[in-house]
Amino acid sequence: MLMFIGTGSAFNTALGNNNAFIKKGNELFLIDCGSTNFSRIMERGLLEGIKKITLLQTHLHADHVGSLGDLVGYSYHVMKPQQTTKITIITPKALTEDVAGILRSEGISDDQYHSIEIDESYTPENMMGITYIKPYLVTHVPTLTCFAYLLEINGKTIYYSGDCNMIPDDILSKLLTGEIDLFYQDTSKAENKVHLTLQQLTESIPEEHRHKVYCMHLDETFDREEAENLGFHVVESI
Ligand SMILES: [Zn+2]
Repeated sequence: MLMFIGTGSAFNTALGNNNAFIKKGNELFLIDCGSTNFSRIMERGLLEGIKKITLLQTHLHADHVGSLGDLVGYSYHVMKPQQTTKITIITPKALTEDVAGILRSEGISDDQYHSIEIDESYTPENMMGITYIKPYLVTHVPTLTCFAYLLEINGKTIYYSGDCNMIPDDILSKLLTGEIDLFYQDTSKAENKVHLTLQQLTESIPEEHRHKVYCMHLDETFDREEAENLGFHVVESI
């Protein structure tokens, strides 16, 4: 369902910053745009034929927002028709002004992108089959406000953790009762207290539910085979 431009953790430059997307016709949906993402987007030709971009932001670590300014600037100044707004940035209220501040500090004025601020939940219309977005406030690092998302896409219910070191109770119970079809979790091998470890994921999710779970945001020592042997999927980038 979701595809990935990069699958790595913040400093895992070999895999690139973790970044999910859906491309459909002339539209592109992105979750985050970290430091290494814009160059990969260009290298992979992801913007070819694109007229409209929608981006959902999880939090403001550089590996999730670091090249958003490049993407917005490129979409406004270079993509045709030039000097027109083609990107919409979706943020929970707690992130809206900070995202605008980052972009302003990079010379991106507010009129170069559309902004949609979401509260409890959001039901988009005509957004590539995405019919529902619900933010979950999650814990990651003490200094940042971070969100995971529950999404309905083409009738499938998808959980996307962003960066967090826990699984919200409500989300875990939805997974265990079969209400979630696909579950994307940032998963680290190293014990670092900011992401969920593979060991914690294994302890939290019984074997019969693991086929719905995709590990992402992989650190340098993450062992794909170990995770797959435990019954999890591991995302791959394009
Ligand atoms: Zn982070």
